Amino acid sequence: MTHQPALSALSATDPEIAGLVEDEARRQHDKIRLIASENYVSPAVLEATGTVLTNKYSEGYAGKRYYEGQQVVDKVETLAIERAKALFGVDHANVQPYSGSPANLAVYLAFAQPGDTILGMALPDGGHLTHGWTVSATGKWFNAVRYGVLKETGRVDLDQVRDLAREHRPKLIFAGGTAIPRTIDFPAFAEIAREVGAVLVADIAHIAGLVAGGAHPSPVGHAQVITTTTHKTLRGPRGAMILTDAEHAKAVDKAVFPGLQGGPHNHTTAAIAVALGEAARPGFRDYAHGVVANARALAEALLERGFDLVSGGTDNHLLLVDLTNKRIGGKPAAQALDRAGIELNYNTVPFDPRKPFDPSGIRLGTAAITTRGLRPEHQPRIAEWIDRTVTAAAGGDEPAVERVAAEVRELLAGYPMPGYTV
Ligand SMILES: *Cc1c(COP(=O)(O)O)cnc(C)c1O
Repeated sequence: MTHQPALSALSATDPEIAGLVEDEARRQHDKIRLIASENYVSPAVLEATGTVLTNKYSEGYAGKRYYEGQQVVDKVETLAIERAKALFGVDHANVQPYSGSPANLAVYLAFAQPGDTILGMALPDGGHLTHGWTVSATGKWFNAVRYGVLKETGRVDLDQVRDLAREHRPKLIFAGGTAIPRTIDFPAFAEIAREVGAVLVADIAHIAGLVAGGAHPSPVGHAQVITTTTHKTLRGPRGAMILTDAEHAKAVDKAVFPGLQGGPHNHTTAAIAVALGEAARPGFRDYAHGVVANARALAEALLERGFDLVSGGTDNHLLLVDLTNKRIGGKPAAQALDRAGIELNYNTVPFDPRKPFDPSGIRLGTAAITTRGLRPEHQPRIAEWIDRTVTAAAGGDEPAVERVAAEVRELLAGYPMPGYTV
């Protein structure tokens, strides 16, 4: 079993690193990967990231660069931009942000001044660090006001969003987050933003693939600015994009370069273009809807086993499970599940009485297992394995955890992993 593309030069030059890459490929092959922000990229995306494009400096934008020799890179970046515009139906795309966090920082730089008020979702309720959370630069340099979810429903409290927006008149409002299992109501956010004269930023880092594949409503036409990573459900390389209407395009471009970044990562840009090309094909719609179908099936199977899901279920790729009634913390549960071959992360749940490094919940997502070819009929088994592992961990029964790991490996042997040949 080897990494694909093969690592022949790397193995010869640096067997230590080559060995570690092979170990990681094997690990990814042997795990049911339920980390909601992860995926498996295609061999084509992997190949694009490993090209000579990494050798080139290209500060600026196509036709307006600061170094010579951009004949090819200009074409690559233009292709990525045109594909992003067509896929999402937007006026403008910037494909240079190094990742999701710098993309959001560029939006602050474009539309706010230090000390200005911004409104974002609180991290413990499902927001992202860069939406103004305390420990983030965005929370230190801006006056961040935070909304959350309703205790009874686990869903975003839009009345609170409206009240806070009216009271604080933020420059920016962020819609989106990292642990939101339900459809984001972009029209409702847009109405609030319009009323108070704020720029609405839809951060679709998690759901971009679902939006592209028609499995989640699009923020286009509601949010003036859309930020996204390219490596989560969108299934591209680690990177990000900022999509805007024509009016906000120039400010965003200036903020990314020269405001925040130097030279773009051209090998990543090429891989983003490849991923966007893949996302425009009909099979990607099947994938996106398959991700949601798998999440629904997994939610149902977990509910049947008495698991407590925040908001009672899911509309997208993501589930948030409160383990309080299973008498185990999120961290020991996540660690036991990893030993059982089920990889996910411990997570706070809204109104969590426990500490962030030892919270009450776990977060699960179905993008990677859908790419791998698992379907709704597999979800009851995964739920059973989760249940058995959590019970075993709570009772200190390590052999039971190991029995699950063996069953997981056996199932996965029938589902090849992109980037690895058996
Ligand atoms: C993942 C994520 C980001 C940040 O992406 P990085 O690439 O990890 O910097 C930003 N916003 C949201 C909502 C995310 O889920």
